[in-house]
Parts: sequence; C-alpha cells; structure tokens
Amino acid sequence: MEFKYNVRDLKFILKEWLPTEEVLACDRFKDYFSMDDIDPLLNEGYKIAREVVSPINTEGDKIGIKFENGVVTPAPGFSEVYRFLQENGWGSSSECIELEGGMPLLIAKAVSEMFSGACTAIKSYVGLTTGVSNLLIKFGTEQDKERFLPKLLSGDWQGTMCLTEPNAGSDVPDIVTRAYPTDNPLIYKIKGTKMFITGGDTGICENTIHMVLARPEGGAPGSAGIGLYIVPKIWVNEDGSLGKPNDVVTVSLEHKMGLKAQATALLNFGENDECYGIRLGPAPDEKGRSKGLAMMFHMMNEARISSGHGANAQAAAAYYFASQSAIERIQGRPFGDKNPAAQRVPIIKHEDIRRMLLDMKAHTEGIRAMIFRGFYLLDIANNSSDKEKAKLYHSIAEVFTPLVKCYASEAALNLEAEAIQVLGGVGYTQEYPVEQYLRDSKILTIWEGTSYIQAQDLVNRKMRMQEGKPFAAWLKVIEDFIRQY
Ligand SMILES: Cc1cc2nc3c(=O)[nH]c(=O)nc-3n(C[C@H](O)[C@H](O)[C@H](O)COP(=O)(O)OP(=O)(O)OC[C@H]3O[C@@H](n4cnc5c(N)ncnc54)[C@H](O)[C@@H]3O)c2cc1C
Repeated sequence: MEFKYNVRDLKFILKEWLPTEEVLACDRFKDYFSMDDIDPLLNEGYKIAREVVSPINTEGDKIGIKFENGVVTPAPGFSEVYRFLQENGWGSSSECIELEGGMPLLIAKAVSEMFSGACTAIKSYVGLTTGVSNLLIKFGTEQDKERFLPKLLSGDWQGTMCLTEPNAGSDVPDIVTRAYPTDNPLIYKIKGTKMFITGGDTGICENTIHMVLARPEGGAPGSAGIGLYIVPKIWVNEDGSLGKPNDVVTVSLEHKMGLKAQATALLNFGENDECYGIRLGPAPDEKGRSKGLAMMFHMMNEARISSGHGANAQAAAAYYFASQSAIERIQGRPFGDKNPAAQRVPIIKHEDIRRMLLDMKAHTEGIRAMIFRGFYLLDIANNSSDKEKAKLYHSIAEVFTPLVKCYASEAALNLEAEAIQVLGGVGYTQEYPVEQYLRDSKILTIWEGTSYIQAQDLVNRKMRMQEGKPFAAWLKVIEDFIRQY
C-alpha cells in the first residue's frame, strides 16, 4: 500500500490555527513568503515525500546499510535522495536559521514532517546537517562559515554530532575525548572514541563534518570544561578545498532493531595522532571553562524537537495506513447482528476499530499542534524585531523542548502498536511499513537524552529557569486557551 499523508491536517495548523501571518510579517520572510505560498509548498512537499522519499524506505529497511572491509555501502537510493533534498532546497537550506531565503520553521517543518513519515532514516541525515550548519551560523567565524557551509548546504557533505562515548551516554560531562593545543591557537589535536554516531560514515557524501565534544588539555572538570570542535573526516583547507584524510577511523556500524538503513558508527579520532579539529567558539578562559556543551545544546535542542516531531510523523503515517486499510478490509458483521447471512462489513464499521482510529487521530493531531506551537515560538524568537517578545518566546520554547521530545516519542510507540492492532495479523508482517515504524521509532525515546533525562531537564532546569517565569508564561497560554473555549 502506498505512503499517504493528510496534508489538510498540516494546512489546518498553519492556516487556521496558529498566527502564521505574524511569522510571515517578520523582516526575514516578508519579501519572500505569503500565506498563499503555504498550499503550493505543502502540496509539492507531499509529492516529493510520495514519489522521491517514500520509495527508499522499505527497501532501505530490508537491505540496510553495509560495512565490509572498511567500506560503507549505503542502502539503495539513499545517496540520490539525500542529494535531491539538499540540492533542491527541501533540506538544510530551508530549515537553517538566519539564512536569507530560508523558510519559516512553520512551513519548512510542515514539509519535512512528510519526509519523516516517508523515510525517517534519510530525514535524520538532513536534520543533522541542518544542526551542524546552524551551529556554524550561530557560533562560527566568518571563515568557518565560508569554509564549511556551502558544501554542507549543497548536499556534497553531511554533518554529525559526536557526544556519546562507551562510558559516557546520559552523563555527557564524563567524556574522556581530549583536545590538545597546537601551534595554531584555533586548531587542536583530537583523541578519543565516539560511539553510536548517526551519520558517522554513510557512504553517501564525499566528506563528513563531525561536531565533536572534547575536553581541552587543562580544561575545568565537569560540563564547564568541555569544548566543541569541527572535525572533518577529510581535512578542509581554508579555501574550502579538500586536504588529506583526517585520521577519523570507522571501527564498525551497529546492527540495530530499526533504522537499518541509517549509519550508527563507532568512530576513533586520532588513532594515529593525526586528527585535527577547529575550535568552535571562544578559547577556554583562565579557569579552563569552555562553552562547548552550551553550544552543543543548540544542536541538541533542535534534535530533541526533531525527534519528537519525527516520532509523531511516523505515528501519523501509521494512522493513515491503518485508516486506509480499515476502509478496505472486510471482516465480521455489525455488532449484535446474529444473522450469518447478513452482509459482512469493512472493519471501520466496528466500534473498537473506530475507537482505536479516533485515539490515533486525536493524539497525532494534538501532539502535532503542540509541536507546531513550538516552531511558532522559535520562528518568533529567531526573527521578531520585538526583542523582549523574542526572548520570552525563546524561553517558552525551551520549556517545550523536553515535553515534545519525551511525550511525542513515548506516545508514538503506543500509537504505532495501535495501528498494527487495527491492521490485525497483516500489521505484524512486512506487508505494511507499520511494524517498521514501530521499530524505527523506539530509538526516539533514547537518543538525544532518554525520556528520563528529558524529565530531569524539565523539572530541574526548565521549570525553574529565570525563577519559573517561562514555565508560568506557558501555563498562562494554557489557562487562556481553556478560558476562551
Ligand atoms: C541508533 C542510535 C543513534 C545514536 N545517535 C547518536 C549521535 O548521533 N550522537 C551521539 O552523540 N549519540 C548518539 N546516540 C547515543 C544516545 O544519545 C545514547 O544512547 C543515549 O543518550 C543514552 O545513553 P546510553 O546509551 O549510554 O545509556 P545510559 O546513559 O547508560 O542509560 C541507560 C539507562 O539508565 C538511565 N539513566 C542514566 N542516567 C540516569 C540517572 N542519572 N538517573 C536515572 N536514570 C538514569 C537512562 O535513562 C537509561 O534508561 C545514539 C544511540 C543510538 C542507539
């Protein structure tokens, strides 16, 4: 059965529910986008999701990514689709903050939601490259931007985030990867092992730009002493041309429950003492404090929202498969009808099937509304000329982040299981990609901080930050909504 998505649901959020006009009126967008652009962009995005992205999903799951004799072979079509999305403006260049011509997040994310539903494995590669590009835009020097951004945005290169190590997962400050100064104050020698790196070695691009957390020699203990380094797989000269391999060795790719087409790599940096990284942000201060982890949190927060968003996209796609099948599958007779000669009915006529479909519909639409309110807050935070409002909305978006990541990813698992239930036995087979959605989604409750870590973030940091003002502001939004309706 073909991948389908309800574009109308997305249009409702953008055109009838959120104040999208307010975002489009911001200086960055007002000459480029209007409300009239929403329908054509979403319709075209849906076409690409169906015709370009979704065809690689099932085969990618079955064949997977391969790593043999040190060489990675991507799943069929992955190189082509990655390049297509990036080259044609449907990838990182649309989602990046502050790029002229970039889309409002509200629109870019509505489009990319359909790509996530169609094939989350490829969408995550795009998302990581967007995250790396945004880090460079926000914290890089002009030289960093000129050196790395054009090829990241064109699809020639891709990006990763390298935090996790064999002995440091949830507890990032325990990392042991080190950065040693060289004669050039911006360049450090990097030494260490990073584990579970998504996109770590994909075989689809000529270069990979790793954003690596490491403690510079003499760095303060704990999170304060961690720096962030741009570590290309192949060195990039100052003029943007490629140099020699940068001693980043792929040890292995993981064999996983889901996302089988996506590379999850164990990487050794500096096995031969020849791995170099360019420091992002300021040098450590006199107490050995760096801003690496704080900067990385910009990428993590994006990735956390994207994880929740991707989870809901897969749950919504599962719902569409289930509802389509419920109309077509003939089984049983109406409840209470004892006549064996009575006409058999499509299963959507059964109360229990309707209960499950309604549960899926209510949850996926409600969660989408929460997520898109988050994108609206970020659009205003990033682009409004009203600095006070931008600051407040940024803080409320920070409160939203762990909620979106945790709630959406946990809920998706139940919703996808419910979709399988609607399909019956066939839902448990590979006849439909719904069992794949369930396998692919599980990781979304784990990476970018497990659900427990999100709960900790919410209660220990987000609810209390700025003396609880952003949290109170968010509660007020809810209160006002309840009062209004
Ligand atoms: C497919 C995949 C892709 C990934 N991609 C990336 C990537 O691109 N970049 C990257 O850096 N990392 C990546 N990761 C790593 C991922 O972020 C970590 O696996 C995750 O943060 C959890 O860390 P861990 O596996 O070490 O588990 P642990 O930290 O060992 O946690 C195990 C369990 O203990 C719980 N726990 C941990 N600490 C506490 C505590 N203080 N109190 C209570 N409970 C606690 C956790 O919630 C969890 O349930 C990826 C992982 C996978 C599997």
